Amino acid sequence: MSRLRPIVVGNWKMNGLKSSVAEFSRITEGYDIGLRAKTDLAICPPFTLLSTFAVVALGSRVLIGGQDCHRSPSGAHTGDVSAEMIADTGATHVIVGHSERRADDLDTNAVVHAKARAARRAGLIAILCIGESEAERDGGKTLEVLETQLAASVPDGATADNLIIAYEPIWAIGSGRTPTLDEIAEAHAHIRHQLVLRFGDEGEDMRILYGGSVKPSNASDILAVENVNGALVGGASLRAVDFLGIAHSY
Ligand code: PEP
Repeated sequence: MSRLRPIVVGNWKMNGLKSSVAEFSRITEGYDIGLRAKTDLAICPPFTLLSTFAVVALGSRVLIGGQDCHRSPSGAHTGDVSAEMIADTGATHVIVGHSERRADDLDTNAVVHAKARAARRAGLIAILCIGESEAERDGGKTLEVLETQLAASVPDGATADNLIIAYEPIWAIGSGRTPTLDEIAEAHAHIRHQLVLRFGDEGEDMRILYGGSVKPSNASDILAVENVNGALVGGASLRAVDFLGIAHSY
């Protein structure tokens, strides 16, 4: 088991209305002293709920994050939200490079790189997602893809205090399918190796999360894998009972 303090992050995606505050409150109430001793906990709601959740989270130590940010601090970018605006809500984290944004919004590695730098500029911790498609895995290209994504999207000067990597096989997201534990271990070991090659000792301290169909029933096995320092959870983060169940797997 890794010595790094784990973090379990919930990605609510495009889900949540004002009425969802009750469910979020159940998460903050469930983050009790026992759980706090074991793991960090964060929820990334849609932008519309960031400020509200940041207020609800006060005093609970549950962390709040955005799901994306623009590369610029402000300006003529209709519909976009900057890292500074996210930080202004009280959020501390922001997801960048999620595969849904890489696919829907053509976020290339270069764009993700710029967004990770924007996060750092604003004092946010970037949760930077990488992961292979099913065709890439079937073609034996997984490690190569991860290496390319890391090299091209992680900015120089990244530290364990401003960057978290999330390994999310695209085919495992929302599908109910996961890689085997050996495959997860292999991918995380490779990511760790790349981080250490580039950042030296700092790379040993960067947290690497696994994401893709994590649920209470598989969390304890996945979270026990070497170099898995937490989880990025989509669907199972929407209900407090499931999300807390995953966090309790530590
Ligand atoms: C995600 O979208 O980051 C994710 C991991 O989704 P799910 O847990 O639903 O597979």
